Amino acid sequence: MALRMSSLFLRTLREDPVDAEVPSHRLLVRAGYVRRAAPGIYSWLPLGYRVLRKIEAIVRQEMDAIGAQEVHFPALLPREPYEASNRWTEYGDSIFRLQDRKGADYLLGPTHEEMFTLLVKDLYSSYKDLPLSLYQIQTKYRDEPRPRAGILRGREFVMKDSYSFDISDEAFLKAYDAHRGAYIKIFDRLGFAYVIVAAMSGAMGGSASEEFLATAENGEDTYVRCTSCDYAANVEAVRVPVPERVPYDDAPAAHAEETPDTPTIQTLVGYLNEKYPRDDRAWAAGDTLKNVIVTLVHPDATRSPVAVGVPGDRDVDLKRLGAQVEPAEIEAFDEAAFAANPSLVKGYIGPGVLGEGNASGIRYLLDPRVVDGTRWVTGADRTGSHVLDLVAGRDFGGDGVIEAADVREGDPCPQCDEAGRGGTLETAPGIEMGHIFQLGRRFAEALDLRVLDENGKLVTVTMGSYGVGISRAVAAIVENSHDDLGIIWPREVSPADVHIVATGKDAAVYEAAARLTDQLEAAGLDVLYDDRVKVSPGVKFKDAELIGIPTIVVVGKGLVDGVVEVKDRATGERADVDIETAADHVVGVVRGS
Ligand code: ATP
Ligand code: MG
Repeated sequence: MALRMSSLFLRTLREDPVDAEVPSHRLLVRAGYVRRAAPGIYSWLPLGYRVLRKIEAIVRQEMDAIGAQEVHFPALLPREPYEASNRWTEYGDSIFRLQDRKGADYLLGPTHEEMFTLLVKDLYSSYKDLPLSLYQIQTKYRDEPRPRAGILRGREFVMKDSYSFDISDEAFLKAYDAHRGAYIKIFDRLGFAYVIVAAMSGAMGGSASEEFLATAENGEDTYVRCTSCDYAANVEAVRVPVPERVPYDDAPAAHAEETPDTPTIQTLVGYLNEKYPRDDRAWAAGDTLKNVIVTLVHPDATRSPVAVGVPGDRDVDLKRLGAQVEPAEIEAFDEAAFAANPSLVKGYIGPGVLGEGNASGIRYLLDPRVVDGTRWVTGADRTGSHVLDLVAGRDFGGDGVIEAADVREGDPCPQCDEAGRGGTLETAPGIEMGHIFQLGRRFAEALDLRVLDENGKLVTVTMGSYGVGISRAVAAIVENSHDDLGIIWPREVSPADVHIVATGKDAAVYEAAARLTDQLEAAGLDVLYDDRVKVSPGVKFKDAELIGIPTIVVVGKGLVDGVVEVKDRATGERADVDIETAADHVVGVVRGS
């Protein structure tokens, strides 16, 4: 196949689009791959659409290879199944809703668990029908609050989603492993650096859950990895190693002390060191227990406060907290909320009033480090006063444990900790490219997908759900592979194999370039041929760098000596090649031989 630039529907731009925040957005628009239609909504132009379809083809091959079968659902979906799973409500403002002429509610599908579950229920009824894996490559709609970064986070985007159906958890694990293997092959072929991290399953429920993240400076996601073992996890999914309980038989009784003007951890620690110095060492923020209150907004719009107790040297990470309380959303605990809870004394809130059965009645969840026997300084629920020597398990307890404290570089690695080694964590940014997880029976139960087992008993089917961001991959590849001049496509997804640039006005040059184009095309390569006679060589070279096809062949001045220049876009290496053998040479470069 050959595309000729003289007629190709393409206009490259010299200027960056004003709204472009990240390189992939800037370059994909400038190089003429996509055009913005509305915020977070993009049209694909010929070159961009070719890349998108190449990625689809890779994903399709690897899904077919594990025996998953391709289907295609509508994007326009009825409300009822999403009502049955409660996601019509849970998704809140994140879905596009609409009504037909009769006033019936519809939505534009954000993901399709409900529809797949219902389809399988419709046609299957026995354990003999299972296992089954179905997938589709489809346009999804989510009304993202901050559509930014171009097609990295769109409101309309292309996703591959697959779903596995099994009779038991053991059988499910096979489907999960098969998908995991397929994803490794897919992401290896897409040609960018990635990591597999342990993840939370979010609104979906279930337990086994891993994400494939492209490692990228501009990634919106933060993950942590161990500096000495292979542990890697999404920040939301990091589990704090739980310390041993501490014996407290000899601990002194708790005592409240006056600590005027100490509403912050810093002022408190300063005051303690001045007025109540310790013998062994100075007081530190980690000796205090900080109690943070937030309001949870539930899917049915009801609100309830929750208190989180964390060591005072840490903050509550709202992303981590959010993942724990999903599907509820978090709102700040504002002045009106304080006014409605008079037992809470701002800056001096302590376990004395928190927890079910205490004055405020507010549910109180503690960081896992607050194990029995640990000793804390915390609010005495009176302005200007704190309690010292308050012992967990003796003087106070929570209504539960929550992983909501921030994770820091240098924190102990949970996997190393379990193995008795001392590895520590570091953080790095990434882009979520794929997600595989165990749905369990949530959707099968909600929509009553049951089959008869070997003994003729009805059992609920267990499911897995697996996504790949296809359109996001186009941008993630560019994030991973570009320079100041433009995009550098990995071979497997490049819109063409070779970019031939003919320069000057000499008819012989264009004849030679056209012949080379024909030869390469006949050899089965895809060629982008810059045959524009009225465009200067400088502009053509700039366009070639910007568009980013991995091999560039310049047919120009050298032709009088019988040579063309073959250039590697990634390394910048150039070689003069005899025009007679140029076609064979280029085929060899492209095929890697
Ligand atoms: P994120 O945390 O980035 O919002 P998600 O966890 O909501 O993503 P999933 O529901 O797991 O996403 O969707 C599967 C895949 O679809 C993701 O791994 C990602 O690659 C892609 N994806 C999700 N949202 C978008 C979006 N707004 N634009 C482009 N791709 C997306
Ligand atoms: Mg996800």
